[in-house]
Amino acid sequence: MRHLITGGAGFIGSHLAEALLSRGDEVFILDDLSTGSVENIRHLKARDRFHYIFDSITNRHLLAELVDESDVVFHLAAAVGVRLIVESPVRTLETNVFGTQLVLDAASKKKKLVVTASTSEVYGKSDKVPFREDADLVLGPTTTARWSYAASKAVDEFLALSYWKERKLPVIVVRLFNTVGPRQTGRYGMVLPNFARQALDAAPITVFGTGQQSRCFCDVRDTVESILRLLSTGKAIGEVVNIGSTQEISIEGLAHVVKQRTGSNSPIAYIPYEKAYEPGFEDMLRRVPCVDKLEKLTGFRPSVPLPEIVDRVVDHLRGKRTAAAATAERMAAPAASD
Ligand code: UDP
Repeated sequence: MRHLITGGAGFIGSHLAEALLSRGDEVFILDDLSTGSVENIRHLKARDRFHYIFDSITNRHLLAELVDESDVVFHLAAAVGVRLIVESPVRTLETNVFGTQLVLDAASKKKKLVVTASTSEVYGKSDKVPFREDADLVLGPTTTARWSYAASKAVDEFLALSYWKERKLPVIVVRLFNTVGPRQTGRYGMVLPNFARQALDAAPITVFGTGQQSRCFCDVRDTVESILRLLSTGKAIGEVVNIGSTQEISIEGLAHVVKQRTGSNSPIAYIPYEKAYEPGFEDMLRRVPCVDKLEKLTGFRPSVPLPEIVDRVVDHLRGKRTAAAATAERMAAPAASD
């Protein structure tokens, strides 16, 4: 099979590409590197069935051509990360709403199956945990930038489901909960890569707020497995499905796990939300998915335990540092012999 992954040079996209290639499938990646990175896909570039196109989903002609070439479109291109959303709300809304419409429109002309990535952010500040797909979404006021992300992804979901209902475009909407693993960057605010870096640097681990807010961290391999299983059941078309782990941990608890797994002496620094993000920032207290629907459709539920997830993230970071140090040494060597 041939697949197009928009946003394929991002963290999740690159893992999805890897899994599809290892099945023997052909993969086209369309990414403008706005938040993705060539580094994420460098190891795939030499593969015969891997094609990388550095461009935007707003290039309609190119998008149409790539959709035409593919059997399935994975739409992962989006503005992600709470920090990015708070700092660049216009870009968030434009990329998420306009971009998704372009992808759905192009796919609809050729009736190609679209798997579109949504987020647990759409549940907003609902306290009805665990979150079920048919639960109400509870968002804050439009004057608070954070909610623009949730609203934009909710519009994406409405769009995708409308294309299915009205134009018979086959779509699957996956609501991804906190997904973590090697190659995720901390640049856009994601907590685990930041904690891992801080622990390895023996720098303070920055816990925002009291640290009593909780999340469930899902290994990206489980996320990819869930997506691929949903794709192959045929029963997920026109459905919205949560994908996430159900192992809940407070952010303070996560800081301790990271310290323990790295053997770091980093102190824990508690940073008020208004300093970490912006005045009036609202965080979600708990975020736990109900994955019954995923399990019913696929017979699978994410299960990689947190210590293993943390170890993989830390090992990746250590590996990157060792490689960077070796490169720096190589570069310095000729100068030293002059
Ligand atoms: N967080 C933190 N320190 C950081 C980055 C994030 O305490 O350096 C917190 C953040 O406020 C949130 C949780 O960790 O409560 C998860 O943040 P992330 O941005 O990874 O995901 P999301 O907020 O989308 O769940």
